[in-house]
Amino acid sequence: MTKKNTATSNQQQLMDKIVSLCKRRGFIFQSSEIYGGINACWDYGPLGVELKNNIKQAWWRAMVYERDDIEGLDAAVLMHPKVWEASGHVENFTDPLVDCKSCKLRFRADQIPEENLKLKKCPECGGELTEPRKFNLMFKTFMGPVEDEAHVVYLRPETAQGIYVNFENVYVSMRRKIPFGIAQIGKAFRNEITPGNFIFRTREFEQMEMQYFVRPGTDMEWFEKWREERFKWYLRIGIKPEKLRFHQHGPDELAHYASAAYDIQFEFPFGWQELEGIHNRTDYDLSRHQQYSGKDLSYFDDEIGQKYIPYIIETSAGCDRTLLAVLVNAYDEEDTGKEIRTVLRLHPFLAPIKAAVLPLVNRENMPQIAWEIYKSLKPHFKVFYDDSGSIGRRYRRQDEIGTPFCFTVDSQTLQDGTVTVRDRDTMKQERIHKSEVLDFLKEKITF
Ligand code: ATP
Repeated sequence: MTKKNTATSNQQQLMDKIVSLCKRRGFIFQSSEIYGGINACWDYGPLGVELKNNIKQAWWRAMVYERDDIEGLDAAVLMHPKVWEASGHVENFTDPLVDCKSCKLRFRADQIPEENLKLKKCPECGGELTEPRKFNLMFKTFMGPVEDEAHVVYLRPETAQGIYVNFENVYVSMRRKIPFGIAQIGKAFRNEITPGNFIFRTREFEQMEMQYFVRPGTDMEWFEKWREERFKWYLRIGIKPEKLRFHQHGPDELAHYASAAYDIQFEFPFGWQELEGIHNRTDYDLSRHQQYSGKDLSYFDDEIGQKYIPYIIETSAGCDRTLLAVLVNAYDEEDTGKEIRTVLRLHPFLAPIKAAVLPLVNRENMPQIAWEIYKSLKPHFKVFYDDSGSIGRRYRRQDEIGTPFCFTVDSQTLQDGTVTVRDRDTMKQERIHKSEVLDFLKEKITF
């Protein structure tokens, strides 16, 4: 096996291990599994939903709570169909699709080698490929009982449009002045031609988007600020700097609405891929909505005494992709000398369970004391009580799901009221008094 093949197969193994851990430990399940599953749809299990909520919380804190210039929003998934004409999605939100006439596989024409496209040769079986045709990625459904063209509505393919159409509602109701932003987290749907790589590319996913409205002429300055801010956020949630980079869009890559764009990419086991896009969308969106709705969406800037259509800087992140990046980044196998322990080195704020409380043995009042500690932590943090199996096994179970701390009640607790605190990453133990456990966690679980 060549060096490159070995690296690829190690990376594939890493993905397989993460997928298997996710299923085994209740992070992510295949959707509708008992029916054989449905392609590219995934369900977040008890630990997955905690991790995902924590990622969303970390984003909302950084984007809304810690700032003075951003408001939140939660717009409906279903919108007036004209929104998608104005946005350009009906016309432009297409991927070029080619089919193989022999093996019937489908490809995105821009994702197969150019040579194959030129020769119309299937990259899988060598069969003949069809001409590329445009395929619109929006899911369609009908509103009301009549299933005809007049009642077509779309499942939103991005959350951004819900923000643009509410621009005026938000700035008037919240008495905002430009520059300011609107942040939203929500589901989006795309009928992707080639979904895959676990939760990386799915047909239903969640976005964390922020649209920042600025005065024309200040847009590139804000664009630069936002791209720095957003990069820092990934470092803040614990992603290793060497796993992150920017990719600047060349003129041929720019979306129809953008004058400048950067992707923040993460090095997944299957290569460098986009986590988030930062775009200068100019005045495209509000101008188009003004044109299609007939409503004046210009803004009067009393500082300079001018009326204009605001420019928009967009930061558009995928929640599911971030979650996958967080898992890949955190996954570690460590040789302890006695065994290989699997540990998820998650940022404590993101960890699904913040602490486990463990009685060393099931006797001598240890379970009662541990249960009391567990109950005192429960209103503040997601914690776990575990009294089954050897203490070593219990620690390993927590390591594997990324629990940063374990508090163990042992015979010394009965004498002096102290418990051990075991650190997930170093496996070191220290003793603190049981009355200090809550404060200890409050100090450690911060963002
Ligand atoms: P790609 O080039 O990977 O298809 P995109 O450039 O179309 O992505 P955007 O439209 O900029 O993506 O969407 C913003 C973010 O939403 C992406 O950076 C990604 O994190 C997330 N996202 C987009 N499509 C999907 C998908 N099918 N599954 C999961 N996340 C997605």
